[in-house]
Amino acid sequence: MIALNMIKLNGNQIIGNSNQSGTEAFIKSTNPVTNQQIEPGSKGANKNQVKEACLLAKTAFDSYRNTSFKKRAEFLEEIANEIENLGDQLTKKFIEESGLPEGRAKGETGRTVGQLRMFANHIKKGFSTNATIDTALLDRKPLPRTDHRLANIPLGPIVVFGASNFPLAFSVAGGDTASALAAGCPVIVKGHSAHLGTSELIGNAIISAIKKCGMPNGTFSLLFGSGSIVGQELVANKEIKGIGFTGSRKGGLAILKTAQSRKEPIPVYAEMSSINPVFLLPSAFENIQSIVDGFTTSLTMGAGQFCTNPGLLVFIENEESQKLIKSLSDTIASTKTQTMLTENIYNSYCVGLTKLEKNKNVRLLAKSNSSTEPNQCQAALFETTGKNFLSDTDLSEELFGASSLIVKCETENEMEEIAKEIEGQLTGSLHLNKNQDQILAKRIISQLELKVGRIIFNQFPTGVEVCNAMVHGGVYPATSDSRSTSVGSNAISRFLRPICYQNFPQDFLKDEIKDDNPNNVTQLLNGVLKTSA
Ligand code: NAP
Repeated sequence: MIALNMIKLNGNQIIGNSNQSGTEAFIKSTNPVTNQQIEPGSKGANKNQVKEACLLAKTAFDSYRNTSFKKRAEFLEEIANEIENLGDQLTKKFIEESGLPEGRAKGETGRTVGQLRMFANHIKKGFSTNATIDTALLDRKPLPRTDHRLANIPLGPIVVFGASNFPLAFSVAGGDTASALAAGCPVIVKGHSAHLGTSELIGNAIISAIKKCGMPNGTFSLLFGSGSIVGQELVANKEIKGIGFTGSRKGGLAILKTAQSRKEPIPVYAEMSSINPVFLLPSAFENIQSIVDGFTTSLTMGAGQFCTNPGLLVFIENEESQKLIKSLSDTIASTKTQTMLTENIYNSYCVGLTKLEKNKNVRLLAKSNSSTEPNQCQAALFETTGKNFLSDTDLSEELFGASSLIVKCETENEMEEIAKEIEGQLTGSLHLNKNQDQILAKRIISQLELKVGRIIFNQFPTGVEVCNAMVHGGVYPATSDSRSTSVGSNAISRFLRPICYQNFPQDFLKDEIKDDNPNNVTQLLNGVLKTSA
């Protein structure tokens, strides 16, 4: 689609409905295919601009939180329309800044607008409110019960850190922003420096939707600049009541530390690092080719830069395993290199590969050919033993890119021990013939339940469906709070809190917990679920 009006990018901060030039260190995104810097760049936000965005968000919260679900849903739908209206300008900027192909740009745009519309639908039906009513029992003995009603309310202004690896779907109008806005929280995004232009285009789309829908000034701001300066100032600001983050463990922990040391500590929902183990049970070896095809596709997709990339393949050595290793090695060795998202991510990947190659507990099985083009990810496959894996914590570290480690176990117990000892993960997968290996499968599942957000049966972990039942979370270090998900409609609950209204007259209650239920939302009435039509 051709955009009707091309937007001239200026790299300015978007502070509420105003556009202001920053005054701090100049940053530019780089095209990872050419290593050329991209104009116009952006000057980082200064302290006063951070404060202004936070104060505006606080003021906006007073009215935004009281907008009806219907109005808020219309606003989210309008953001989706505005993003679609950006057409080719958005696609081209996305490709230039990320090095990702057009299909991915369009797919991610679809996912981003789909998420916004999913949250619009979710709040229209009142699913997020958890409306619960326990009516008065005045004749109850020995004591009467008064009327109690629970509804979820929004937390307050939220800061979102855009991710490097999803310039749209986990960024300015991505899942964190969409779920926080749906909850009734104003959002301030700290844009990722790797895709300033994509961020600015989306920021403008949100501001257009704010103006069209009459939402308060300050419902949204977008600031650029260094994470350790602008990001930290945002997290420390007293008006901010919660954080959504996707990125490195180091960055996530630095934000968590600041959030917890504030006078009023606030929740941080950080999605950080995961190596997504795949367990092949003995019966999985019945179909080696499908394992090789599925695993290598999952591993190399998008140069392995997915948080659900399968970084560990665990099985018990048997007479078939050499065939599997040979076939996987041949496939990896013949994989073409792919451009990584940023020079930093590429450099970290190379450092990680070198560290593994030097590790005495590990053997390099295959690596794809190198390339002279910039930032090229060489897919790689390593192997180790169950014993070495269990004794060497370096082998559990996330290596962001298309690299995976095979762990050869001696026994079922050793395989179960790995599932038990591994750090928290976003996903854990297991492959088997469902009519065999049932006892072992249940043992592995039982361990994985204590570690991961999603357990996958006979499929591979990449490709996260945005649906009501999705959990994109898991025990630390996958996330900083294992009770949450950052994908799917349940992501909204991160930015809500329950409140109980005791003995309230009807006129003072929120619509969703009134007796006449004017918006026809689902209510739990005296323990019985009354669903909306
Ligand atoms: P990152 O370095 O953690 O940066 C993410 C965001 O947080 C950026 O906006 C960054 O600002 C900000 N930030 C970084 N350190 C901060 C601090 N101390 N205080 C406040 N804000 C801070 O992650 P990335 O750039 O997306 O990717 C780098 C690495 O993260 C990858 O190599 C990979 O290992 C990991 N990663 C993991 C996942 C996952 O889901 N598991 C996803 C993406 C990346 P700046 O603009 O200043 O950098």
